[in-house]
Amino acid sequence: MPDLSQERVLRFIWGVRPCRRGGLRLESEQLGHVRVIHNYGHGGSGVTLSLGCAAAVSAMLGPPGGERVAVLGGGVSGLSVALELLRAGHSVRVYAEVLAMQTTSAIAGALWFPLGIDFPEPGEARDRFNGILKESYSRFCELLGSDWGVREIDVYEPIGAEVHPEYFEAGVIGPPSVVGAGDPMPPGLGACRVFRSLFVDTTRYLPRLHDEVQRLGAAFEMRRFTDLRSVADLDERIVVNCLGLASGGVFGDAAVFPARGLMVEIEGRSIDYAIHDGFKYIFPREDTLLLGGTYEVGCDGPPADDSGYEVILEHHRHRLSRASV
Ligand SMILES: Cc1cc2nc3c(=O)[nH]c(=O)nc-3n(C[C@H](O)[C@H](O)[C@H](O)COP(=O)(O)OP(=O)(O)OC[C@H]3O[C@@H](n4cnc5c(N)ncnc54)[C@H](O)[C@@H]3O)c2cc1C
Repeated sequence: MPDLSQERVLRFIWGVRPCRRGGLRLESEQLGHVRVIHNYGHGGSGVTLSLGCAAAVSAMLGPPGGERVAVLGGGVSGLSVALELLRAGHSVRVYAEVLAMQTTSAIAGALWFPLGIDFPEPGEARDRFNGILKESYSRFCELLGSDWGVREIDVYEPIGAEVHPEYFEAGVIGPPSVVGAGDPMPPGLGACRVFRSLFVDTTRYLPRLHDEVQRLGAAFEMRRFTDLRSVADLDERIVVNCLGLASGGVFGDAAVFPARGLMVEIEGRSIDYAIHDGFKYIFPREDTLLLGGTYEVGCDGPPADDSGYEVILEHHRHRLSRASV
């Protein structure tokens, strides 16, 4: 049983999901002499989608090799695109304000699960989105058992948790099955469902991804973009936009919005499964537990006080206390 006592609390964490009404924007547009391939609007699923989106960007560039490409952003989206393009023989320069462990991507746990993003309506766009999820999942599976910090885990959901069949539509995880009375189940959950997914420990994954991109020869430049002009000033004529939340301001997309997430990190990994109940979750990182959380639309800065974190702790403590009754 996880120990969530006060002495175990390591830190309070806040981060801002880069969301977009209408969901993912993965498309190419010509802006003057620059071709921009957009890859943003990942919301609460940026890690989940990253490798599939990177493959899609590479396919949009056409036959392998030879292009000089500027990748804007050094979070999981930008670094994944950089990796994919380098492997396809392009030359890549990553421009970003901060990289890898300093980005929002390092705040994510991250569970492989398409949560906190608008799904396209059923039809062609939805099929494409599910195809990206499928591709991403299969690429993460290739990293299982390596030093990238990707592992398979059981994810338990209380029976009362909202059911979203679309999360399982890509056909790579789930659907959840009800845990029988005789089966082992996590304390405090009562009747529950379980499915299997991947867990990407970003504390290991992001530095590894960054190292690989560097090893394959990417150049890095710390730079801040403010508007289209600052992008057009780059030497490269092909630009992949992975600026996350900043895509709204730099490229004038009013559909982009922030959704803050609060989490509490607990010392010690006392369980090796995840508990998932919407944004109220427990994720097992390598040496710690991440307790979630919130989804606060419109908030893009730190909370005024610690009360939100206390609510999260109380929620999980209360749930676990029911186990001992
Ligand atoms: C609390 C929380 C929990 C989450 N949990 C999960 C999860 O379990 N699973 C999952 O899949 N996803 C999860 N996410 C979502 C995930 O973290 C994001 O979708 C993902 O990190 C987006 O990655 P990104 O690379 O597009 O953006 P970011 O990581 O934000 O990177 C953006 C990059 O652009 C650069 N940049 C930004 N503005 C500028 C500018 N003006 N000029 C120059 N550079 C700039 C930054 O420096 C950075 O390098 C979670 C997010 C939060 C906040």
